[in-house]
Amino acid sequence: MSLKKDGYMVILSSPSGAGKTTLVKLLSERKKFQISISHTTRKPRPKELNKKDYYFVNDHEFKRLIGNEEFLEYAKVFNHLYGTTRTPVINNLQNGQNVIFDIDWQGADQIKNKKLDYKLITFFLLPPSRDILFKRLSNRDMKDKLIADERMKEFNRDVLHWINYDYVIINDELEKCYSKISNLIDAEINNGPKEYDKEFIREHIEKLIS
Ligand code: ADP
Ligand code: 5GP
Repeated sequence: MSLKKDGYMVILSSPSGAGKTTLVKLLSERKKFQISISHTTRKPRPKELNKKDYYFVNDHEFKRLIGNEEFLEYAKVFNHLYGTTRTPVINNLQNGQNVIFDIDWQGADQIKNKKLDYKLITFFLLPPSRDILFKRLSNRDMKDKLIADERMKEFNRDVLHWINYDYVIINDELEKCYSKISNLIDAEINNGPKEYDKEFIREHIEKLIS
């Protein structure tokens, strides 16, 4: 198998509400990356579509897929199960398509530990501030403010995983954030120079959790 022709795997993780889904969609539209569509046992949000946003399945079906060893990775997140099935991902990579994943740190760890024969680039997104994160979560989950509260509670714990990612990016202005991610992916693929200030990120994390 020639590594050169295979696609790249790009993982985006973040505390809930920092903007993964939004950026994954942009990367897929503009860079023609294939989105890895996960399975989940959570209920669809308004406007979410089965087989497009997720494969929405019940516990029984999810456990059947675990039993059949169909998942590349899976994890429990906010009391629901989420997982990535292996076959569509590997097929896309072998066809030279880049695949982008919106998965949490547990899934990112599992994929990293598998040491697959495909190049992996991992990004962790951060909000500009806790206040802005809360506003974004509240806007998105308007029907249920409890969801925003519950997800904010996980923030301090989630954010600690930044250290395990290749790049950490602040999602302030969407277009700027998109460009940073896109440029870093291009630099990784073409072995070009990478603009990235880890110290600035470390200071931002300290502000977010203080
Ligand atoms: P995640 O997938 O990380 O949980 P989403 O992509 O669903 O986050 O984003 C949460 C909410 O914030 C959505 O309503 C989205 O439209 C909004 N959003 C995302 N990025 C930005 C941004 N840079 N500026 C303003 N709003 C944003
Ligand atoms: P949401 O319910 O907001 O769509 O997603 C909740 C969390 O689950 C997010 O952190 C998202 O990245 C993560 N997630 C979505 N799909 C998967 C998956 O297939 N595997 C793992 N491990 N996490 C996922």
